[in-house]
Amino acid sequence: MKTYVEPQREIPVRSEVDVLVVGGGPSGIMAARAAAKDGAKVLLIESRGYLGGNLTLGLPILAYLDVNGKQCIKGYAQELIDRLAARGCAGPHVPCKNHMSLTIIDPDEVKTVALEMVRERGVEVLMYVFCSAAIMDGNRIKGVIIESKAGREAILAKTVIDCTGDGDVAERAGVEMHKGDENGGMQPPTLMYSVRKVDMAAFRDALVNHSDVFDMDVMPPEQFARRYFITVGLRNQIRKATEDGLEIPVARTILITGLKDDQIWVNMSRVSGVDSTLPESYTKGEIEALAQIKVLNRYLRGYVPGFKDMEVERIMPFLGIRESRVMVGKYVLTAEDILSSRRFEDVITVAGYPVDIHHSTGADCTMLFAKDNHDIPYRCLVPEKVEGLLVAGRCSSFTHEAMAGTRVMSTCMALGQAAGTAARIALASGVLPSEVDVPAVQAALRAEGAYLG
Ligand SMILES: Cc1cc2nc3c(=O)[nH]c(=O)nc-3n(C[C@H](O)[C@H](O)[C@H](O)COP(=O)(O)OP(=O)(O)OC[C@H]3O[C@@H](n4cnc5c(N)ncnc54)[C@H](O)[C@@H]3O)c2cc1C
Repeated sequence: MKTYVEPQREIPVRSEVDVLVVGGGPSGIMAARAAAKDGAKVLLIESRGYLGGNLTLGLPILAYLDVNGKQCIKGYAQELIDRLAARGCAGPHVPCKNHMSLTIIDPDEVKTVALEMVRERGVEVLMYVFCSAAIMDGNRIKGVIIESKAGREAILAKTVIDCTGDGDVAERAGVEMHKGDENGGMQPPTLMYSVRKVDMAAFRDALVNHSDVFDMDVMPPEQFARRYFITVGLRNQIRKATEDGLEIPVARTILITGLKDDQIWVNMSRVSGVDSTLPESYTKGEIEALAQIKVLNRYLRGYVPGFKDMEVERIMPFLGIRESRVMVGKYVLTAEDILSSRRFEDVITVAGYPVDIHHSTGADCTMLFAKDNHDIPYRCLVPEKVEGLLVAGRCSSFTHEAMAGTRVMSTCMALGQAAGTAARIALASGVLPSEVDVPAVQAALRAEGAYLG
């Protein structure tokens, strides 16, 4: 590869803070809120012009409830729902056989609530900056380099929390990272969009009363009589459309009810082979997913009852990434840990979502269900060798299979709250996050409403 030697240059130090949180998605919002609780100087940086990450894509939040219908995600993640619900912008936690539970939120109002939840704690928010490098002193992170319209600047921090989803900071800091399965295959991305003017009575009638025709994965027909649901199935309709010549990228029809009565969110585009850490690959995925939506609309209008007169309402602003880099931390959570409902002494959250792997190639998915919820240990947030850094969200320390369960936004918010709490307590005790007193972190998490079993 042709290279260019960048000349050395002096750049301004924009800020010096106690805790820097990089990435303002579900994990980053909660990490910043927790870190700032006792007045620490916290900066949250975000590359987009709003907070929320994938919370703004029109997705339901899954698995506040576990397989037994017990609420296992509480704390700040619940507070987000309470605040949204108070303004009519979130539904209740609705049990679901396939997803444990779904909670519908307004993808726009969540941006305002996220801002409130961090700014009321004194967190400084800086948008439109992209973290491009880590500032290291040996194996200790000292801050990051950001790029923006203002040029290249440094931010110095006592502790950095990587909540970028892709593990950008950890990767730049030299933490060992993994991508995908043994062949590097990653779960494919999806461009979410919503449609209106769906005849919900006709759709419901087909799902509830003709379940023999409209076959649904694991979900009983009565589930679709509820106000809020997700369909995962109608495989026969997709087969029919495929026989008729439509190129449908998925084997299952995944449709999610919205907060508006005639609104449905469509989670059905799927582009295999996309690597979100390579801009040319991400671009190709974005373009292909946009094209798939045209075909999906023909499918929905022609083959799904109630969708004949539907109209596209909005296509969301970016291709949602299910999987990219994860770090190797002091403990790597496995699918066995999830499926055996394993407990850990250093638990920092309980989680209840099954292993849900959208195959990296082809059109299908594997779901593996546990009999109970499971713990996630603090060590999943702590890199093996780099100090001063915590990694929270879908890029924490998981195997490819385990990440297919822990990636849901409820769990990511809980991981963020735990990382911010650990950073706060480590700073107050004058130790590194890797040396923090875990029982003190657990007590602080419980005091702020988190459920640890
Ligand atoms: C199509 C799809 C469907 C899904 N369905 C569901 C579902 O139904 N329910 C559910 O609960 N979960 C679902 N998930 C999973 C869930 O959305 C993600 O795993 C979760 O949002 C990850 O949270 P996070 O905080 O780790 O990262 P993200 O939500 O990705 O947030 C990361 C944030 O960091 C910012 N950022 C990234 N890099 C940088 C950088 N270098 N500098 C500055 N800022 C940066 C981003 O802009 C973003 O705001 C789905 C995911 C996808 C893609």
